[in-house]
Amino acid sequence: MVLYETADVWGVVALADAVRRRLHGDRAYYNINRHLNYSNVCALSCKFCGFFRKKGEEGAYEHSLEDVAAEARKAVEAGATEMHVVGGLSPYLPWDYYPEMMRTIKRVAAEAGTDLHVKAFTAVEIVHLAKIAKQYKRDDRQAGIRWVLSELKAAGLGSLPGGGAEVFDDRVHDEAFKGKIRSDEWLDVHLVAHELGLNTNATILYGHVDQRRERLVHMEILRRAQDRALARLGYEGDAGGFVEPGLKATEGVDAPVITLTREGVALPTAAMSARGGYFQTIILRCPCRTTRRLEHLAGLSGLENLRTIAMRG
Ligand code: SF4
Repeated sequence: MVLYETADVWGVVALADAVRRRLHGDRAYYNINRHLNYSNVCALSCKFCGFFRKKGEEGAYEHSLEDVAAEARKAVEAGATEMHVVGGLSPYLPWDYYPEMMRTIKRVAAEAGTDLHVKAFTAVEIVHLAKIAKQYKRDDRQAGIRWVLSELKAAGLGSLPGGGAEVFDDRVHDEAFKGKIRSDEWLDVHLVAHELGLNTNATILYGHVDQRRERLVHMEILRRAQDRALARLGYEGDAGGFVEPGLKATEGVDAPVITLTREGVALPTAAMSARGGYFQTIILRCPCRTTRRLEHLAGLSGLENLRTIAMRG
């Protein structure tokens, strides 16, 4: 909160840059991807969403697997290395459509003599898929999530884009995102994904009815989840080093608080990329201009956005 409130915003930016340089030196990362929104038909009607349509409404669509193959071909021809696949919570598409979509993208890429990484489905879609596959169990949520993610991974799913985290706070959630899954279920999906060796991103959709304190809580919860993921991979915070996977904190054991950015401590990148199962990045999004239902909100100033981006570091 001190960093959020200080008048010295450029000092905060400089601190974030120091953290970034410790972790990554002069490297920047990017990929070349193509987006595929397989359907915009959604059972929910989230306040901030300008994407969804109801079936039969003007602009509603649902892509066939032939359409998916055509998009994958275009991606390969354009030199993409990744397909980013998300859509609405369609009550009409059957479960089989989803793994088949993964296989279709992989097959098209293989036929062209290449590969496409498939980054697909937000946490709320994964929960929805567990329900339509009749695997969702209210008293054992993770079991249904595990089933869905295992099937999708076997079909070609490579990672999760991390959307739908919004802001991990029940007041904010109920005011702006009511109807979507809450933070506990979102975290369940990402925990299981990490256990299965799938990397994920995380988002924060901020700058609407949320306060700075709630954004900080969100980042802290993600930080703890990342600590658990890295501990599972064998990264041991207290000693500041990286030990053999499996030797340290495992399920049921509190994860150590990991300081990845301590001077002189390198990221265990080789072991991390060999196994997978952690957060790759936090993506910040401010939704105020994306839908008419939120356009009455002032949104944030450029400096507040810059400060929040720096805080994420
Ligand atoms: S679940 Fe996703 S697609 Fe559906 S209304 Fe909400 S944000 Fe939009």
